[in-house]
Amino acid sequence: TQTETVLEVNNIEVIYNHVILVLKGVSLKVPKGGITALLGGNGAGKTTTLKAISGLLASERGEVTKGSILHNGENTAEKDPADLVKRGVVQVMEGRHCFEHLTVEENLLTGAYTRSDGKGAVAADLEMVYNYFPRLRERRKSQAGYTSGGEQQMTAIGRALMSRPETILLDEPSMGLAPQLVEQIFGIVKSVNENEGVTFLLAEQNTNVALRFAHYGYILESGRVVMDGPAAELRENPDVKEFYLGMS
Ligand code: ATP
Repeated sequence: TQTETVLEVNNIEVIYNHVILVLKGVSLKVPKGGITALLGGNGAGKTTTLKAISGLLASERGEVTKGSILHNGENTAEKDPADLVKRGVVQVMEGRHCFEHLTVEENLLTGAYTRSDGKGAVAADLEMVYNYFPRLRERRKSQAGYTSGGEQQMTAIGRALMSRPETILLDEPSMGLAPQLVEQIFGIVKSVNENEGVTFLLAEQNTNVALRFAHYGYILESGRVVMDGPAAELRENPDVKEFYLGMS
């Protein structure tokens, strides 16, 4: 059966500051309702790819100079982040990015600012977020800046969920977190994917965990896709094992 493609990136080039060519023709397809992983080492271009999709490049003096980005068939390469959020695409940035002076709950509520479906619906979604992240319910009155790294990552994902997205772009959710916590967060991502039908495109350096939870993976090296395939196949691929899974 043919699955619908929610996002299609076609041969994009991205340049920073008019001179630094960082993506040299990246193409990928994100199937609706799936978890797709963008893998590769430091500086491979994962974050840049996510930002190109979410419209966050412009604020970094980056631009897509070639290729197209189709969201449900429409080219969104020139759209700004707020527009993309309204269309259902939201990025969770690397490094948690909470509003440190707001409480956990206030942070979550900021995610709902683009919605116009009323307080009741927002309250119901807050409840949904607390059900996925019971820890956030316990910490809801705490100032986000004083919560742990794991709690801040949960808050960042929860805030994205509050916009009722179709697709979440998740940048390096494992960064700086203990293995057990990484496992827990990926487990929650998987249940959100399965229960709410939210599509995920996640960038990860932790190939091992990403390929256990994702359905499909793309490996980037120096701004190019060097390999892609179903996660189960990539996990068994000798090159992936040697270079990315740390075992030969
Ligand atoms: P990381 O895991 O370190 O974030 P990544 O795969 O996400 O790695 P990018 O952050 O996309 O990689 O960076 C790709 C390349 O683009 C790197 O060489 C980086 O130095 C460069 N780069 C990133 N942001 C900018 C910027 N704002 N201006 C200039 N160059 C940048």
